[in-house]
Amino acid sequence: MDTLFHKIIRREIPADIVYEDEHLIAFRDIAPQAPVHVLFVPKTSIATLNDLRAEQAEIVGRLAFAAAEYARREGFDEDGYRIVMNCNAHAGQTVYQMHLHLLAGAPLGRFGT
Ligand code: 5GP
Repeated sequence: MDTLFHKIIRREIPADIVYEDEHLIAFRDIAPQAPVHVLFVPKTSIATLNDLRAEQAEIVGRLAFAAAEYARREGFDEDGYRIVMNCNAHAGQTVYQMHLHLLAGAPLGRFGT
């Protein structure tokens, strides 16, 4: 599998990277939907949440934990934030490498249709 996000991981296209470790990378969304909009992407290739296998479930925890750590580090953990993972067409997934959105920096509207 080779997506835009794999190219960012390999530094083949630029991104504003805010965190990286052996498991995941986090960078600012190019079209932010909130004052803070950061994407947390695993380095393991997984197209959608539907493709996550039981033995890989900890990856989602790592993404969520990294997002919470980022919120603490940046000081908006108490004000709050939202994490979102889009899966397939009805959710509007556009990049088929599973990822978590972190949205913050202002009161957010309710979600839905
Ligand atoms: P999805 O819709 O798949 O849940 O989220 C994909 C996200 O990737 C979108 O919010 C979109 O703005 C973002 N995105 C698309 N192309 C790029 C890019 O080249 N660089 C960065 N940093 N984000 C991108």
